[in-house]
Amino acid sequence: MPEHILSGIKAIVAMKLRRKGKLQREIAEYLNTNRTEISHYLQGRHPSKKVLRMSQEILKLPPQYAVRIINTLTEDREITSRIIKVLYNPKIEVREDRCILCGACLECPYNAIEMDTRGTVVVDNSRCRLCGRCLSLCPTGALKLVFLDNNRMEE
Ligand code: SF4
Ligand code: SF4
Repeated sequence: MPEHILSGIKAIVAMKLRRKGKLQREIAEYLNTNRTEISHYLQGRHPSKKVLRMSQEILKLPPQYAVRIINTLTEDREITSRIIKVLYNPKIEVREDRCILCGACLECPYNAIEMDTRGTVVVDNSRCRLCGRCLSLCPTGALKLVFLDNNRMEE
């Protein structure tokens, strides 16, 4: 079942990217799949309407809950982070007033966090795979995951 729901969510992402003017080839590359699959998504041939409806229901949840579900659908962090980025435009933000410069967040497994020459924590969100490690390591709650888009679903 998780793979069916993942297909449904990928289909919704593919449609969203198509509406933004992306070509089938570009969408296939982004979702790490082939053009035939993307063509099926865009023409409504796959997945089934029932799976698509279930996927749409998940995406109606507040982003923090929907993202948790999406993260359980596959262990492929690259693909889940790409999907979540299209749907919600997430960012890891640093609250400098709370940061004690302990350096714990520098253990980001994707090298998305650095300390700059002024001793300020800087996040490169383009590298972030939304694994949540920095959020759990930060002892002061100085890091926050925010969703800049709400992904309002078209009915
Ligand atoms: S969520 Fe994960 S990938 Fe993103 S900055 Fe934090 S540790 Fe790095
Ligand atoms: S883990 Fe938190 S307190 Fe420590 S350096 Fe990173 S943002 Fe600052």
